Amino acid sequence: MVQPIALLSVYDKANLLDLAQGLSKAGVRLLGSGGTAKKIREAGIVIEDVADITKAPEMLGGRVKTLHPAVHGGILARSIPSDEQDLNAQGISPISIVVCNLYPFTSTISKPGCTIADAVEEIDIGGVTLLRAAAKNHERVSILSDPADYAEFLSAWEKGQGDVGQSLRSKLALKAFEMTATYDETISAYFREQYASAELPKEKLAGSVQRIALRYGANPHQKPAEAFVTDGALPFKVLCGSPGYINLLDALNSYSLVKELKEALSLPAAASFKHVSPAGAAVGLALDETEKKVYGVDDLKEPLTPLACAYARARGADRMSSFGDFIALSDPCDLATARIISREVSDGIIAPGYTPEALDVLSKKKAGKYCVLEIDPAYTPSEIETKQVYGISLRQKRNNAKIDAQLFSNLVTVNKELPNSALTDLILATLALKYTQSNSVAYAFHGAIIGIGAGQQSRIHCTRLAGSKADIWWLRHHPRVLALPFKKGVKRADKANAIDLFVSGEVLEGAEKDAWTALFSEDEAGLAAIKELTEEEKKDWGKKLDDVACSSDAFFPFPDNVHRARRSGVKYLAAPSGSVMDQECIKAADEHGIVFAHTSLRLFHH
Ligand code: 5GP
Repeated sequence: MVQPIALLSVYDKANLLDLAQGLSKAGVRLLGSGGTAKKIREAGIVIEDVADITKAPEMLGGRVKTLHPAVHGGILARSIPSDEQDLNAQGISPISIVVCNLYPFTSTISKPGCTIADAVEEIDIGGVTLLRAAAKNHERVSILSDPADYAEFLSAWEKGQGDVGQSLRSKLALKAFEMTATYDETISAYFREQYASAELPKEKLAGSVQRIALRYGANPHQKPAEAFVTDGALPFKVLCGSPGYINLLDALNSYSLVKELKEALSLPAAASFKHVSPAGAAVGLALDETEKKVYGVDDLKEPLTPLACAYARARGADRMSSFGDFIALSDPCDLATARIISREVSDGIIAPGYTPEALDVLSKKKAGKYCVLEIDPAYTPSEIETKQVYGISLRQKRNNAKIDAQLFSNLVTVNKELPNSALTDLILATLALKYTQSNSVAYAFHGAIIGIGAGQQSRIHCTRLAGSKADIWWLRHHPRVLALPFKKGVKRADKANAIDLFVSGEVLEGAEKDAWTALFSEDEAGLAAIKELTEEEKKDWGKKLDDVACSSDAFFPFPDNVHRARRSGVKYLAAPSGSVMDQECIKAADEHGIVFAHTSLRLFHH
């Protein structure tokens, strides 16, 4: 029998002598690189130098030690006649065991004052090659990359008389592959930080940047923070300002939403995001005069384009939640849309382009610090997405479920009349949920989300929260609200807050009440006009809201959700099936004459 050969080349020499001793006793021929061989030889164990088989000395100060066909031919050869012939022709012996671990790149770069040259010297070349070659050929070769595995390996070797078995070789190969992957990731992250700088001049940002540094992470004390891709360039350019971590979470989620809305409904779409959930989302249906007033765009000089209508609806649905939003547009931003944005408090925008006039308006916002991102509309994210929580990587297929008319074809109630306008609203509400932190429920009407309940642990709390937002939205259309006698010069945000207090029936007292009252004209007619809305008035007005669509990201566990939705004018409902209470929910929907679609698609988003 040919004598098995082990090649040893380790930086971390822990447990090395025990292993060498054991292998030697078991009749294995040992070969070692410079320092490894020296240490073993000094312990009185017989070992040859790698140079003895390569006939080439270590060179370049250790940069080339084991990189040689005599080594890699010996490792990579399979037990097949053609490979054996090749080895024989070159006088190379097959190697059965490789023992290798790498130069300590991570600890070197963590040392204070480490220069790029220091880091470069710590990039292990031959070791990674040994690990990969031996792991690749694990059908025949064992690769030991962790000193903690030596003892188990030795006993398996002794027990199997030189054959440790395929399952152990496979396990060891996987470990080696993980080691080289982590090692390479550390090296690329280091050089990304050194070379892929965000400080490039603006013109160079055009599609060529792989990484941008962020001011900080989710909170100011979370530094450093960055956004990067490992392959190619980031699919967006920073035209103005500098995005933060949460800005990017909002931007990337909201752009996905508007892109899909446009694809599903063939209308320009807009979203207004806060804390990684939509506060509003809409498509570009024209606004009537009342809607223009409710959404605060009745005084805009530019004629409203469809895109501007979409943003007016998205921004106006819940003005409180949208304050300081991150905006996404499905189409290049035009002047009318930019003009609406310029009057609002907002953090940033992402769109597939900007007209020069729109960009001019936006780049003057926030004294030139408004964040303007331009995304490549052709960009397609990878099918698989990964994130880390508490040091653990979680990986999943992207949620690429398509939401279109087909999804709402299983109508389970007696009433099955689903007009096109309601279908549009169901598609919109359901797509919004796909990008809303769960649990979530959304109400939509006339091409806009009018109430969204995000991130609640209980379904009924989502339904109530979204319902009460829809109620407030509807009360804002009340003739008495539209006629509120605001004094001249009251700011838009102050008006929105005052209206919200008026319609939500908050009881104001003392200084807060005085401050609220001072916003309105103080003559007799003015005082009469701001008298609170009575329960009767609210109820009567509420009854006028009908034909609202409502969607839920998971099934309704109890029929209380259906009853609650109806109280906010819901006539069209969509939710996945699967609850033991499905039949009860359908019964409740039938009681109200609601059209209920079972979608069989859950849409949790985290
Ligand atoms: P030794 O202490 O035996 O001189 O060196 C062991 C280290 O060298 C191991 O960490 C191993 O990964 C690395 N190594 C083995 N072969 C090569 C090579 O050809 N080039 C470089 N740069 N490193 C190698």
